[in-house]
Amino acid sequence: MHEPPLPWHHYSIQRTFEAVSSHPDGLSTSEADHRRRHHGPNKLPDPQRRSILVRFLFQFNNLLIYVLLAVMLITSLLGHWLDTGVIAGVVLINAIIGFIQEGRAEDALKAIQKMLSPSAEVIRNGQQQTVAVENLVVGDIVLLQSGDRIPADLRLCRAKGLQISEAALTGESVAVDKQSEPVAYQSELANRACMAYSGTLVTHGIGTGIVVATGVRTELGQISELVSKVRSTQTPLLKQIALFSRWLTATILTLATATFSYGVLIRDYPLTNMFLAAVSLAVAAIPEGLPAIMTITLAIGVERMARRKAVIRRLPAVETLGAVTVICTDKTGTLTRNEMTVRTIITIDNQYTLSGTGYDPHGILTCGNQTVFPETGSPLLQTIEAAVLCNDATLRQEKHEWHIHGDPLEGALLVAGTKIGLDAAGVKNQYPRTDLIPFESEHRFMATLHHSHDGQAFIFLKGAPERILEMCHQQLTTSGPASLQPDYWLAMIEQQAQNGQRLLAIAYRTAQKDQVELTFGDIGDQFIMLGLFGLIDPPREEAIESVHICNEAGIRVKMITGDHALTARAVARQIGLSNAQETLTGHQMDQLSNEELFELVNRIDIYARVNPKHKMRLIKILQQHNHIVAMTGDGVNDAPALKRSDIGTAMGKNGTEAAKEASEMVLADDNFATITAAVEEGRAVYDNLRKAILFILPTNGGEALIILTAVLLGFPQLPLTPVQILWVNMITAVTLALSLAFEPKEPSLMQRLPHPPSQPLLNNHLIWRVAFVSVIIMGGTLGLFQWELTHHSDIERARTIAVNTLVMFEVFYLFNSRFILAPICRRQDIVGNRYVLLAIAALSVFQLGFTYLPVMQTLFGTYAIEMSAWPQIIVVASSVFILVEVEKAIMRKYQAKTRPPR
Ligand code: ATP
Repeated sequence: MHEPPLPWHHYSIQRTFEAVSSHPDGLSTSEADHRRRHHGPNKLPDPQRRSILVRFLFQFNNLLIYVLLAVMLITSLLGHWLDTGVIAGVVLINAIIGFIQEGRAEDALKAIQKMLSPSAEVIRNGQQQTVAVENLVVGDIVLLQSGDRIPADLRLCRAKGLQISEAALTGESVAVDKQSEPVAYQSELANRACMAYSGTLVTHGIGTGIVVATGVRTELGQISELVSKVRSTQTPLLKQIALFSRWLTATILTLATATFSYGVLIRDYPLTNMFLAAVSLAVAAIPEGLPAIMTITLAIGVERMARRKAVIRRLPAVETLGAVTVICTDKTGTLTRNEMTVRTIITIDNQYTLSGTGYDPHGILTCGNQTVFPETGSPLLQTIEAAVLCNDATLRQEKHEWHIHGDPLEGALLVAGTKIGLDAAGVKNQYPRTDLIPFESEHRFMATLHHSHDGQAFIFLKGAPERILEMCHQQLTTSGPASLQPDYWLAMIEQQAQNGQRLLAIAYRTAQKDQVELTFGDIGDQFIMLGLFGLIDPPREEAIESVHICNEAGIRVKMITGDHALTARAVARQIGLSNAQETLTGHQMDQLSNEELFELVNRIDIYARVNPKHKMRLIKILQQHNHIVAMTGDGVNDAPALKRSDIGTAMGKNGTEAAKEASEMVLADDNFATITAAVEEGRAVYDNLRKAILFILPTNGGEALIILTAVLLGFPQLPLTPVQILWVNMITAVTLALSLAFEPKEPSLMQRLPHPPSQPLLNNHLIWRVAFVSVIIMGGTLGLFQWELTHHSDIERARTIAVNTLVMFEVFYLFNSRFILAPICRRQDIVGNRYVLLAIAALSVFQLGFTYLPVMQTLFGTYAIEMSAWPQIIVVASSVFILVEVEKAIMRKYQAKTRPPR
């Protein structure tokens, strides 16, 4: 039992600190470790897994298995114990395979969940640090910003425009305002404005809170509900297959009944014989192994994607990824490296260049060819000081390497300050910060309020240059503030943006010394422009390569950025977007009607100065064009667009929890190339699913045709018994068909157009292929069976030859199935998938046992055929290989003629 929680919402901040034995500088690392050891990790217990027995029994919960169980019951009633035994064996094997596979899939999901485990920003030892949410302890001080999932129950000690959606706890979706003042003792949970509860979501603003409860002791823990978990649902394809097998079962049962009635009523066959024929038909036509193979293929796809740093949160995404036609991507960090370096500083009278790369704070400031050392009080020094003050990042040296904590853009400004010899800590001490308006992409600026020790107050403002210019009426010159010259600044902005530099403007104004709060109302238009910073952010090499791959693969890449249009265009050119000439800004989009935008979206690839609402509009219009859209996002405001897009893609490193939870896929490395890799894997999965189906169905089709033809032609004895059919189905599914799930990607995978999303898995061509191969298998097997029977008149011998011919057909057809249309002609096409070779080797051993082991002969009624029978089996079976290759060649010619030009 836990003791009842204290009324934290009623405690003052001071009292809270005392109650949890902490203080504004946070806990020490050793104290935090001690508390974690003592109280346990900050997590809810894992949900109870289904017991092993239940999981095993669930494997029998399948329509096809029900049919087999019914057959088993009837054969046992008829006293055909052998048949009953074999069917029971098959059902059991199926269940065991399903059971093992499910275990593997669950392990994979668990590993993926681990990759998604969230972190929190805390203050420990007086310094900001990132720690895993699991390691939070009571007394920790947590920093919050919009998009964060609250990691534990917090008593807020600071809140700035903080709004929290408590839907996870109260079901109320409208976000509530939070503040730090204590509330009445009796307040209900929903009214405790000074508390932030674990599992709820920051939708706006920033704040700081003291951890007062962790793990099961949080409010959420009390109602013990898991909030963020990887959801696994049935994928559209699996649903399609489930429907298909239901439909197939019904057809098969009807057909089996019809065959039974036909034999008994019209042909006067004995009842038991006809019953066996009907059972054979049923087990022949049911693709028992198909559902398992489909799930395995998808699971392998998820694993391969995770290995390439794309974490799939919802299983259907694996299939949808293969159909993606448009990728809408952010610029910074995804296409570029998000390693910002200040290259240019512009004041009213000069343009300076700063050398150096990365975060190493060594570099030289030059103007023309002259090295410059900024003078005290000069506009240049004031510009840089303002940039250091209006800044939340920190720069630290760890093991000879420089690291930035916080926004890389702000970090770059700190680096620039250090390069010119500015003492950042000194400046910050001289002008302590009193309040701030944090940066949000909607308003594109950040403002801070400072008071100097000699009683002056200033507001510093930094943000997108056009936004800042709107708020200025003056500019700082060497002789003090003078009237603003917007034309000068606009010309400078254009010049730098054309070079692909990300631009930032800095301004300031004085404030009343008694002002302690900063609101949007304080911003106005009375600022004094200080200067501009031009930052470079090199494109990622692999992004250039990936955009090229997308172009080849018929996938259009669209850049959607909050940056300046000219900067975006310069980066688009470096990256190689299809149309790096035309741009559309958020402002221009606002002027366009939906119809006008509909006309433009296919052509335009660069959307600049857009906010999350524009993203949403773009997605909708692209989807009206029947595009399958993958869209990246990181902020809390991106969540609706991420949800709306077909593949919402969140950034694993820099993305907010809100964005991750709204997406189908998370990029562990925030890299554009990872999206392309995931699309490639998605296409491979789709290919392999089709290949597996294309391989499995003709086995069943061939067997069913064999039984049907034998009954129709009035064969006195069936060429295959039910247990032999079950043997073939099982043994080929667990060896040959399974090997196709591991089929490597075809090299042409990313040179094809995306498959149309509306296209069913089995198109006309594939249905034709299934029928064609079924007929070949039937013809060859039945022909050889009949020939053997007429020459040797031994039914067991003829049946053994028929089964082995059927299996050999499968072996040859497996090679055809490695590529749906491409020819199999090189050595690599035969040996390229070692699982195929292993599967054939295993199958050969099974078949030899099936034919020559006495116990198998008793169980399956087989006969030790002489060695000389094998060559004719192999020759007959190889015919399928040649015939299918001829069919592929004809199809390729036909498709080349009818395919629309790209
Ligand atoms: P991208 O698509 O390139 O990732 P974005 O959508 O992330 O861009 P924002 O972060 O919204 O773009 O930034 C838009 C503009 O706001 C930038 O061009 C810059 O001028 C300004 N800006 C960015 N970060 C800050 C910040 N921390 N403080 C002030 N202004 C900023």
